[in-house]
Amino acid sequence: MKTLIKNGRIITAVDDYHADILIENDRVSMIATKLDMESDRVIDATGKLVIPGGIDPHTHMELPFGGTQASDDFRTGTLAAAHGGTTSIIDFAVQYKGESLIEGIDNWHKKAEGKTAIDYGFHLITTELEDGQIEELHTAMDEGVTSFKMFMAYPGVFLVDDATIFRGMVAAGERGGLICMHAENGIVINEIIKRALEKGHTAPKYHALTRPTVAEAEGVHRAIAIAEMAEAPVYIVHLSCADALNQVRQARDRGIPAFAETCPQYLFLSINDYDAPGFEGAKYVMTPPLREKSNQAELWKGLKMGDLQVISTDHCPFCMKEQKELGRDDFTKIPNGAPGVENRLSLIYNGGVVENRISLNRFVELTSTAAAKMFGLFPKKGTIAVGSDADIVIFDANREQTLSVTTSHMNVDYNTYEGKKIKGVVECVLSRGKVIIDKGEYKGKTGDGQFLKRGTCVAM
Ligand SMILES: [Zn+2]
Repeated sequence: MKTLIKNGRIITAVDDYHADILIENDRVSMIATKLDMESDRVIDATGKLVIPGGIDPHTHMELPFGGTQASDDFRTGTLAAAHGGTTSIIDFAVQYKGESLIEGIDNWHKKAEGKTAIDYGFHLITTELEDGQIEELHTAMDEGVTSFKMFMAYPGVFLVDDATIFRGMVAAGERGGLICMHAENGIVINEIIKRALEKGHTAPKYHALTRPTVAEAEGVHRAIAIAEMAEAPVYIVHLSCADALNQVRQARDRGIPAFAETCPQYLFLSINDYDAPGFEGAKYVMTPPLREKSNQAELWKGLKMGDLQVISTDHCPFCMKEQKELGRDDFTKIPNGAPGVENRLSLIYNGGVVENRISLNRFVELTSTAAAKMFGLFPKKGTIAVGSDADIVIFDANREQTLSVTTSHMNVDYNTYEGKKIKGVVECVLSRGKVIIDKGEYKGKTGDGQFLKRGTCVAM
């Protein structure tokens, strides 16, 4: 099977040039100014950007949470991702207390296998890691799960103590693996929540008011300090505010391998969204919460200057009906999370490149290349080069779209960006050489996606 992409403007994290691309089977086999060989399919990319497929390293398909589960499963969630130009996700498997690490991974394989539209890998949320389980962590790495997420928040559910974090960092670090930290002081936050509820503060906005930025900054500081003692790198997930960013900055300035991602919601939405009428603020109940608007400019600066390396979504949708509603009388019962996997590329293109905050190359780096390097997928994924998987997006940078639940493919009953007009539309998506999205229509079939056995981090 040969496919030619002709006349496009190829953008990678470092390149910007006009050329044709020949794809043979799964991979890019040739790139040259002009290619005219026989092929089974020709895609004309005149006037379009040709970019590497997006990599979203932070999604939660069908994650059980708060007595319900995320409304996108691996089928609907990856289909929505594909529509939005994302060709790989790294989702979070969970090792629950009492389970082995391998059991946790196996359970997520069962959820995803044969269902995905795009390639997928797993991190493992690790809730228990005694000395006797270290060998198992290394086995997980050998099986392609090379990063592990630990929580400083959600006591009684996901929270692990500092000793466990240290053990995890040493164990993963000595083999080139990575600990992803949910860095937020959940123990103090729980005390603040208790006091809010005692005062009758039950509305959605109290989710934000009970999780101050200092709780996140303290978590980030502590995570980095433990990583420094463990002589291992650390990756902070969903960093939401300037206070936390400053901790990462200071560490990086000292040469410490501290990395962090942020998400579109922290760049485009703010704490004011919780003031939406009635119970509507519940749409934005996610953790960390949306912050004061002044944080947005700082996060963009972090992205521009390299103190933040990756933009993921933390896609974890719950419908308003029957799911978010569980917390109508008590914000602590609102399932935490929001949709986003479909809108990331276009949102970042519009807010970043069109609005002059980052370059085109940096846009590609933040939405694809950096995640590939961070999580052991590069150069198979994350770039357009001879030998790389032909995960390619033909992007119409001039067309506009209006984000809405009515045009979205995510299995959820609202869109956090409802009505937002943006420039930049995903026109065609190839996953390992096969066109899976063509002019907004899905052309692939469920189960096309393959499990990504990942290597180790090459970002340092
Ligand atoms: Zn998450």
